[in-house]
Amino acid sequence: MSKLNVPPENHVKALDGQGWVGLIDHLGSETTIVNAARVSFGRLKDNMDERDVILLNYLIENKHTSPLEHVVFTFSVHCPLFVRGQWHRHRTWSYNEISRRYTEIDMEFYTPPKLRKQAESNRQASISSPDFQDGELIKKIEAFNKKSLDFYEELLASGVCREQARGILPQNMMVTFWGTVNLGNLLHFLELRDSEHAQWEIREYAIAIKKLIKPFIPNVAKYFQSKGQEW
Ligand SMILES: Cc1cc2nc3c(=O)[nH]c(=O)nc-3n(C[C@H](O)[C@H](O)[C@H](O)COP(=O)(O)OP(=O)(O)OC[C@H]3O[C@@H](n4cnc5c(N)ncnc54)[C@H](O)[C@@H]3O)c2cc1C
Repeated sequence: MSKLNVPPENHVKALDGQGWVGLIDHLGSETTIVNAARVSFGRLKDNMDERDVILLNYLIENKHTSPLEHVVFTFSVHCPLFVRGQWHRHRTWSYNEISRRYTEIDMEFYTPPKLRKQAESNRQASISSPDFQDGELIKKIEAFNKKSLDFYEELLASGVCREQARGILPQNMMVTFWGTVNLGNLLHFLELRDSEHAQWEIREYAIAIKKLIKPFIPNVAKYFQSKGQEW
């Protein structure tokens, strides 16, 4: 039996190598999408041709998304708790996660490789500041993460239950979850999360997911590239 915290072989790293996302499983292909769109004619094809690519582009362009829902991906994601919080707002995914009520093993904490400054014009956003002298602060974050783990272990050693002890763990704690989503909703996620409005940390995962799924949906990727998006 393999461990959930170990990244799948095909994983793509995120967050300076501290996080990752891997593809666990997938269902369907671009041929599935065009076959689903033409299902009312009762004809199925085995391979994509040029007309199918035109149809695929038409479906995406016109937000005729139900045929995309026949393609499904399952990912394993290793990310900080605060990224997981943003991710789980996407209600159209199905999720399962390691529970800290059951286990205290393999605990890891994210230490940001670089700190950003608070944006003054937008209270939700940050700005990259290459000259920000953040070395000492990053060391303090690392020490704080370690201290919280020591305290957590002290609570467990004193007999406190895991479900209460976990309350003291910081948002930088790494979690691992599985998420399953159909392509229509995944494209919506990618539009929102690989965006300059999204936080850098979750954007890293959206970019990684694009790399993982591109081989399965090359023409979908090409469509978005033709609209100026990075894929
Ligand atoms: C840059 C950014 C900043 C954000 N800031 C905040 C913030 O400050 N505070 C905050 O609370 N959230 C914030 N969010 C989260 C945001 O409001 C959404 O919850 C999140 O992006 C998920 O989007 P969604 O609901 O479209 O996705 P999903 O939940 O995957 O839903 C996909 C689509 O399905 C439909 N749908 C799903 N569930 C329902 C439903 N119950 N009723 C009707 N239609 C439904 C909608 O059309 C929806 O667009 C932010 C998101 C982004 C990208």
